[in-house]
Amino acid sequence: MLELEEALARILAVVPTPFRETVSLDQAQGRIALDAIIAGIDLPVFDNSSMDGYAVRAADVAAASPRVPVTLRLTGLVPAGQGSSGELAAGCCVRLFTGSPMPQGADAVVMQEDTRIVPGQPEEVLVVDPVKPWENVRFCGEDMKRGTMLVQPGDRLSLGRLMLLAAEGVGQISVGRRPVVGVIATGSELKEAGEALGPGQIYESNRVGLALLVQRAGGIARTYPLVPDVPEAAREALDRAFAECDLVVSCGGVSVGEMDFTKSAFEQLGGKIQFWKVAIKPGKPFSFGRLADKFLFGLPGNPISAVVTFLVLVRPALERWQGAGAIELPGSPGVLAEPLANPGGRRHFVRVCMDAQGNVRSAGVQASHTLSSLLSANGLVDVPARTTLGQGTTVRVLRWE
Ligand code: AMP
Ligand code: MG
Repeated sequence: MLELEEALARILAVVPTPFRETVSLDQAQGRIALDAIIAGIDLPVFDNSSMDGYAVRAADVAAASPRVPVTLRLTGLVPAGQGSSGELAAGCCVRLFTGSPMPQGADAVVMQEDTRIVPGQPEEVLVVDPVKPWENVRFCGEDMKRGTMLVQPGDRLSLGRLMLLAAEGVGQISVGRRPVVGVIATGSELKEAGEALGPGQIYESNRVGLALLVQRAGGIARTYPLVPDVPEAAREALDRAFAECDLVVSCGGVSVGEMDFTKSAFEQLGGKIQFWKVAIKPGKPFSFGRLADKFLFGLPGNPISAVVTFLVLVRPALERWQGAGAIELPGSPGVLAEPLANPGGRRHFVRVCMDAQGNVRSAGVQASHTLSSLLSANGLVDVPARTTLGQGTTVRVLRWE
């Protein structure tokens, strides 16, 4: 039985380098950048006005007040999207809008609200309030300097990064291809929704969760029909999934029972089981196998075991497959509002509910087959073997939502 770190290390060691794909920014959300991207231009691109108003020389209006306005001669108008007109002479002003480039010679913008127009005298602008030099001016490069590193290889492309890239004029970006992940559920007791349950039968519930987690990890889930506990059926299902997918996630049939055929079927197809059993609870019978350049993640069938092993062992591999630098589950700190005890010999990923104030409580019964806790659970706390974390302990709550 491997410790979790060792199991994960052995998986990550064989994940191939990512396959490159070039996509437009609107397709890049959540994808992993494979190249560094450096700002090619300053932002703002040129000195410009932050207001609708008038470009002036600040010194000209230093004495302006509502009672004694300063009269400036209006010599031009620069709509956003046009180059600025010539040099602004003393005693003059130029009509600007938010984002209009500053004319040469101007060193401030008087906002429209601080000006008056005299009817019948469109060439004159009365300024009723002074401005400080460079007031209401957005400077070239003050937001982002050309040469700044925007994206490093392995970064996830967030909304913020994508907007910055767009502002920098970047239209396309190299990202890791999304893996196609086959999702298989095995078990002769499993039925599809809509089918009548016979004696001893249950509705299958893992694939929907696993497919969702695959998608959240950036993969493309391909869900297969249910596979009964018959060696030939397991072989056929795996054969097909390995032909159609980059990776296969199965659940069920990896325990020690004589009806557990996943591992043997995989081996009959030429796959090699790299390891079996990891010292975690739930999820001990997790198995990992390799078939040429593809992988089998054999998850246990109990629903919580399947989810937990996916989160701690499959998700990081999917992330790395796409080129991600950071592969840890997102976590946030919380404080235990009650003790969490793990008397067992394996670390226990306990389902918890963290409230908005950061108070963390057990989400209910922790058996690996019980789903009711998922109604309130919003995270997991990793409790070491033979350890009780006391009330008041600060814990990291691993999040999957
Ligand atoms: P196994 O890992 O195949 O021994 O299954 C362990 C337990 O999980 C059994 O009670 C199964 O009925 C249940 N189980 C296995 N696969 C699923 C599934 N896809 N959906 C719901 N329960 C499952
Ligand atoms: Mg089974």
